[in-house]
Amino acid sequence: MIKESHLNTNEAARYEEVLAGDYWMKPLLKNQTLRIVDLHGNQAADILFYSAADPAERYSAMDTIREQKNVYLTAGTTLLSNMGNPMLTIIADTCGRHDTLGGACATESNTVRYALEKKTMHACRDSWMLAVAENEQFGISKRDITHNINFFMNVPVTEQGGLTFADGISEAGKYVELQAEMDVIVLISNCPQLNNPCNAYNPTPIGLYIWD
Ligand SMILES: [Zn+2]
Repeated sequence: MIKESHLNTNEAARYEEVLAGDYWMKPLLKNQTLRIVDLHGNQAADILFYSAADPAERYSAMDTIREQKNVYLTAGTTLLSNMGNPMLTIIADTCGRHDTLGGACATESNTVRYALEKKTMHACRDSWMLAVAENEQFGISKRDITHNINFFMNVPVTEQGGLTFADGISEAGKYVELQAEMDVIVLISNCPQLNNPCNAYNPTPIGLYIWD
């Protein structure tokens, strides 16, 4: 569902850009709003959310899909934790569809999907592993890397129930906006994937606005 934001970027408390292949791991406090901007179009932002109070509580694709009775994420979606608690709500969305079925790219999946020699290419899972290793203060480790959201990524489900990785439907300047319902740790891998049509084989930076 397309829903424009009422927030003014001039009033944002912070703005940062994350290059493709980089990670961003920071807290977002309850009632703060995070806008993720697809600056150049067809980028994929692979994201995990954790409760800041207890990282064992984390975003759950299963609980979110079951409770909203829809496999796609968009404005109006409440992202639920594995304990059934609301973590964030998508309050605005100018892209209209985001995936939480396809999972993040990894060196292993690159090998299976594309070719054996892709094994050494940088993947989202590498960025997450680096992030948790460089940010021990959050108490998150390898075992906490679980199922994620791929913002701006288009993974339609076929009539037969199959998954297809399709061309992106996002464009330059499209954004998704989330309001935190609890204090969360946000872990973003801005996808470095060069083999997938979903980002037009051209990974690009994303922009992050935060409102207090
Ligand atoms: Zn990726």
